[in-house]
Amino acid sequence: MNIAIMVCKKMTFECSGTWCFKAFNEREKAFEIYKDNSKVNLCSFFHCNGCGSDLDKELEYKVTQLNKMEVDTVHMSRCIEVECNRYNEIKDFLIKNNFKVVEGTH
Ligand code: SF4
Repeated sequence: MNIAIMVCKKMTFECSGTWCFKAFNEREKAFEIYKDNSKVNLCSFFHCNGCGSDLDKELEYKVTQLNKMEVDTVHMSRCIEVECNRYNEIKDFLIKNNFKVVEGTH
């Protein structure tokens, strides 16, 4: 099973992503659902860059890459919820692109 973490671009200058990785490595918080699954691969930690109007256009290549890596689940990090007024739109975009969405990381 291949998963990815999506974070907000606004955090690029501040966040190292370490708490997301710690939570994944220790299968805690939102990653607790994988506790009994040793075959989970974290394949991508990517930034949303969808601040413009067209999510399809702005995230198209990232979706292509995720598909090539057979990522089926995207974790939406808490920073998106905090920083973004388009949370539900982004969630719908991921679902429309056939990803299972899990809300949260750590
Ligand atoms: S659209 Fe939202 S989540 Fe994406 S970069 Fe802009 S503020 Fe962050």
